[in-house]
Amino acid sequence: MGTETKTEEGRRLCLECGDVVPYGRTDKVYCSVKCKNRHYYAEHMAGRYIRTRINSILEKNYSLLEALIAGNIDSVLLSDLSVKGFSPDYMTSHRSRKYYSECGCYDIRYRQTSTRIYCIEKV
Ligand SMILES: [Zn+2]
Repeated sequence: MGTETKTEEGRRLCLECGDVVPYGRTDKVYCSVKCKNRHYYAEHMAGRYIRTRINSILEKNYSLLEALIAGNIDSVLLSDLSVKGFSPDYMTSHRSRKYYSECGCYDIRYRQTSTRIYCIEKV
């Protein structure tokens, strides 16, 4: 539970609408069931939206990497790949090496520098 807000008299304020929580609900952080549901729904949907968005970014990256493997292309400029919709900041695994980063997108591994991606392979 987040930090609760109270009035000067020590009355709790609803986490959703900011109204004073009625006396009958002094153990609660919402003024009503409606606000409680609304607050939960908003947080739940925000988390869901973020997961859906990140999943689709990873899916896009994966399909681009898969196409490179299928075309036997082992090294590609990040700028060329970005134009096609690749998001270099999104990956499912990451390990920093001295001259590159060892990245993974599900079962595809690749090395990434600031300018290119190479050593693309399925593991
Ligand atoms: Zn409320």
